[in-house]
Amino acid sequence: MNNTKYVFVTGGVTSSLGKGIIAASLAKLLQQRGFSVTIQKLDPYINIDPGTLNPYEHGECYVTDDGAETDLDLGHYERFLNIPTSQANNVTTGRIYQSVINKERKGEFLGKTVQVIPHITDEIKHRIQILGETGDYDIVITEIGGTVGDIESLPYVESVRQMLWEKGEENAIVIHLTLVPYLAAAGELKTKPTQHSVKMLMQSGVSPDILVCRTEHEISDDIKRKLALFCNVKKEDVIQSIDAETIYDVPNLMLQEGLDEVVLKKFNLSTEKQPELNVWNEFVRKHKNPTSEVEIALIGKYIELQDSYKSITEAFIHAGSSNETKVKVRWVHSESLTPKNAEKKLKGVNGILVAPGFGDRGIEGKIRAVRYARENNIPFFGICLGMQMAVIEFSRNVLNLENASSTEMKKNTQHPVINLMESQENVTEKGGTMRLGAWDCKLEKDSTIYNAYQTENISERHRHRYEFNNDYLEQIENAGMKATGINPKTGLVEVVEIPSHPWFIGVQYHPEYKSTVLKPHPLFVDFIKAALKQSQL
Ligand code: GLN
Repeated sequence: MNNTKYVFVTGGVTSSLGKGIIAASLAKLLQQRGFSVTIQKLDPYINIDPGTLNPYEHGECYVTDDGAETDLDLGHYERFLNIPTSQANNVTTGRIYQSVINKERKGEFLGKTVQVIPHITDEIKHRIQILGETGDYDIVITEIGGTVGDIESLPYVESVRQMLWEKGEENAIVIHLTLVPYLAAAGELKTKPTQHSVKMLMQSGVSPDILVCRTEHEISDDIKRKLALFCNVKKEDVIQSIDAETIYDVPNLMLQEGLDEVVLKKFNLSTEKQPELNVWNEFVRKHKNPTSEVEIALIGKYIELQDSYKSITEAFIHAGSSNETKVKVRWVHSESLTPKNAEKKLKGVNGILVAPGFGDRGIEGKIRAVRYARENNIPFFGICLGMQMAVIEFSRNVLNLENASSTEMKKNTQHPVINLMESQENVTEKGGTMRLGAWDCKLEKDSTIYNAYQTENISERHRHRYEFNNDYLEQIENAGMKATGINPKTGLVEVVEIPSHPWFIGVQYHPEYKSTVLKPHPLFVDFIKAALKQSQL
């Protein structure tokens, strides 16, 4: 018999309360008590996946090993839990409708009228239970995107209602995350928004089992009692979630508040074994007590919304902690970088990271930043588009191929040092058609990158259409930039570096997706180490 327990996390009052962090923190505590746990995110928008979304909309698109383009919350899940997620961990309304409509076209509904209830809700429930049935998990936590009361969330809330009824109260519960705002003028915390949002949930037939209340100030016992009374929960099921210095404090804050314990009690599961948080706490301790500091310039074109680079900035935190170093990020807009001001804007940094991206906006600024790093011996880390810019910069300024470019930016460029992958030539659809997910790569032993990984065979995640053009490999290598990581099956260049430079690496893949608290990514760790060295010169 399948005994998987289901926790649903809904949100009320406002968006951006951090459902993903609460879900990930609860999962961490349960995992460290010995339960196997996974987290899933259901997104109410109609895009099939966030792969076609501009990062300004919802921040970074996170990529899993199996090549799913997903919501950035999955990054938090992996960083906290240190286990990979997959396509099944992120489902959108678009995907739900797409599969129901495909079934309808195949005649699978046998002449029935296809409706939101039961067909859409059945598909939602199926997507939730797949994880429990196939993944061998004790507990599946499902985060419902959006805020209760949104029209587009209704089918999800209805599916939750049905699952609560079908599974029974010992097997499925709802955690409702709300905001308890502080009114400075009145000097009071206010419970009314929470009351209203719980009422809204109840109108859909769902009564929360646990309230997690985001707040800027301590919630008194009196207020907890009031919330409990008006929201139909026990007082011990009102959990305070006070603003934290870092998201990595949240598991401990939830432990102090007893969130994991009330969840386990509701499921009738043992609370005997306490969460084992030694490694986690050591990470947090080092993160909060750095002995040195470096400043890294992050060059990107979406920097107005820092969530666009979430995995990179989190990987800096992991690598910083492991080097006991505070990593300060200097955000530099690639469009604002010109040959004239590059010196001024980049002066004093200990490392430069040129970020991933698409299209030609800001690329000349990125190329300028690469040049500054190369000529001034500043540690350089180029990721995906950043690596491609490094190849273009080298071709233009060292090989003197004046018009070197990528065919993404300039279709008929004289020197297409970066061009479209052969496998992409006949691709016309945009969604889900890039080179995605985990690919193997073999590293050259005598290289900086091998030094960082300490292993020859690696697997990293990709998301791109363009690649290093091997027609230029010999010329480029002869001039001093080496291809030190190659895909063993396709021969695609995955890594370039300049051996004569203290630390200059460009990678076609996205190492940031695989950095976790437990396993800070070796390339980020080594980059920060190099920046630290630079800072001591
Ligand atoms: N636009 C580039 C490509 O498609 C790089 C993509 C990226 O940085 N993720 O190849």
